[in-house]
Amino acid sequence: MSGKESQLSAEQRREALKEVFAQAQGCVRCAELAATRKTVVFGAGNADADLMFVGEAPGASEDEQGLPFVGAAGKLLEKLLGEIGMMRGDVFIANTLKCRPPGNRDPQQVEIENCREYLYRQVELIQPRVICTLGNFSTKLLRDDPTGITRLHGQPEVLEVGRRSVRLYPIFHPAAALYTPRMLQTLREDFSRLPELLALPAPEQPQWLEEVPELVEEPEEPPVSGGSGPGAEPVDEVDQLGLF
Ligand code: URA
Repeated sequence: MSGKESQLSAEQRREALKEVFAQAQGCVRCAELAATRKTVVFGAGNADADLMFVGEAPGASEDEQGLPFVGAAGKLLEKLLGEIGMMRGDVFIANTLKCRPPGNRDPQQVEIENCREYLYRQVELIQPRVICTLGNFSTKLLRDDPTGITRLHGQPEVLEVGRRSVRLYPIFHPAAALYTPRMLQTLREDFSRLPELLALPAPEQPQWLEEVPELVEEPEEPPVSGGSGPGAEPVDEVDQLGLF
C-alpha cells in the first residue's frame, strides 16, 4: 500500500492510469479539437502524488511536446514549486482540457464536459490529498460553481471530485501572473501555504459501495498514416508515459 487508503496498490493505479491515457489518445469526443491537435496532452508527473495541479488547456508548446506546462507559465510553475522545496516530479500536472483549443481560444463548455471524465478518472487513480486549481476554468469545473478565481484564490475547501474527497485549493493561473507583479506576489503567497495544506490529515473518503466504473470505450478510428488527426499514431507516447 502507498499510504493512501485504497483497494488498489500504487502500481495497479498507475497501470490503470496508463489505460485511461491510452483511451484519451484516441478520443474524438470534440471533433474540432481532435482534428486540429498534434498530441493529446494527458498530464504528467508522479502517478501517486499528494499534490495535483489542474490548469486550463494545452497551448502551442504543450501540443507540440505532448506535455503540460512546458512554456513560460510552466517555467514559472516550476520556479514556484522550487520555492516550496518541490519539483515537477513530486506532483502531477493536468489540465481541464487534454487537447489544445485552436488559436488558444477559451475552452468551450461542451469541451469541458466531454473531457471532465478523464480528469475525474485521473483524480480517482492518483488520489491526491490536495488539488490546486490554476485559474478560472478548472476552479469553476471542480467546484461546480461559477464563482471566479479572484474571489476564491487562497481559500482551501474539502469537497468531492468525482468519487474522491480532496482539499481543493484555487490559485491564480501562472500565465496571468507572468506580466503582472502584484498578481505574482499574490500567487507566491498562496503557493507558500501549500506545504501546510499537504501536512494536514487526508480528507476522509466517502464510502462507495461499487467499484469505480471504467471509462466508456471510444469507438475505433481507422489509422490515418502520417497525419496528426484523431486516427493518427500517438506522438511521443513514450515520453508522456515515462513521466508517470
Ligand atoms: N496553460 C495551461 O493551462 N496549461 C498548460 O498546459 C499550459 C499553459
